[in-house]
Amino acid sequence: MLVIETTDLTKIYQNRYIALNAMNMRVEKGMVYGLVGPNGAGKSTTFRSLVGLQRPTAGSVKVFGEEMTAERSDLRRRIGFLPTNPSFPPNLTPISYLEFIGALMGLPNDRAKIRLATLLQAVDLTGSASQRIGRLSTGMVTRLGIAAALMGDPELLILDEPTSGLDPSGRKSTIELIRELSGRDRTIVISTHILGDVERVCTDVGIISQGRLIYSGPMTEMRRLARHGSITVEIEGNANAFEQQIPLLDEAGAVRYERVGTEFRMSFMGTEPLPVYIHRVLDLIDRTGVDLLHFNTGDDEIEEAFLRRLEEDRSRGFLRASAWSAAQRLGSGPEHSILGERQVSEVVVGEVVDAGVPRSS
Ligand code: ADP
Repeated sequence: MLVIETTDLTKIYQNRYIALNAMNMRVEKGMVYGLVGPNGAGKSTTFRSLVGLQRPTAGSVKVFGEEMTAERSDLRRRIGFLPTNPSFPPNLTPISYLEFIGALMGLPNDRAKIRLATLLQAVDLTGSASQRIGRLSTGMVTRLGIAAALMGDPELLILDEPTSGLDPSGRKSTIELIRELSGRDRTIVISTHILGDVERVCTDVGIISQGRLIYSGPMTEMRRLARHGSITVEIEGNANAFEQQIPLLDEAGAVRYERVGTEFRMSFMGTEPLPVYIHRVLDLIDRTGVDLLHFNTGDDEIEEAFLRRLEEDRSRGFLRASAWSAAQRLGSGPEHSILGERQVSEVVVGEVVDAGVPRSS
């Protein structure tokens, strides 16, 4: 069952800033879905649209199979939302704040008490439950935010950058908490720009760049993509002879490299697993008679795969633009086209009118 489905979701602020560009995102029940992308990619805008705090300029958002709008507080009650850098009344204590949230949700007082006690323990805040919120650390405030998002026992939990501003141990415990919260009946969507977090907890991952989802799929598939990785060698001897033959190491056009002096950093985009490329590189070193001084395969392969996707996307931007203008010349209006293995869609920016809803966080 689809818990989240956005169709050509587009947000243009003040008719000038394109934050989301025909974004199509699908999240199935039970997934822990990581939305990853650099700052400004459109993650918070996506989340605010998902909870109906922001009206899309164009396109639609469905949550639990129904259209999400500002009026759908019934749908919102089934969602727990943690915004980025949440701030809470500094003079309240975690207990009084969660009581307040429980009352807002219409929970009977005794049920609210039981629930907040369980949650404060789950997020490891029992020891600070009666301190003023203003005195809590960033990590504690984030964990309180997660507890608040869980007060209504939501089917869908949306956490915007839950690990930002946390030290490594805070990040680790937050990720562990998210893992504990996941399960068949609960769907979790988190955004982050920290790939390690996604890798540790997410079943599925979406990469967002400049307001578009440029990759979406299972984490296992992302790992498979990462396997191709990169190989860096530093050599001594006839580096030019070595360089000339680099393009033959992979399928036509599928190898890229950078040369700095006698160091070559090669990225393989072909279909072979990394060990095959390693073998070919070593073979080329042999054949060209150069000496190998240093050999390295990408340390953080997931990160490599992610960056490569972003880079590919940038270069494909030109392709998309020309495909779109070709479609315009043929008079077929906004087009869907298949470029590479993923579907992209374009919007006619000039024709989309901003709904003018101001940023709400
Ligand atoms: P992320 O969460 O990935 O950092 P955001 O969704 O916050 O990205 O922002 C996406 C883009 O939209 C950015 O370029 C940002 O500057 C812009 N943006 C966000 N909110 C507003 C706003 N209220 N007015 C104008 N531009 C905005």
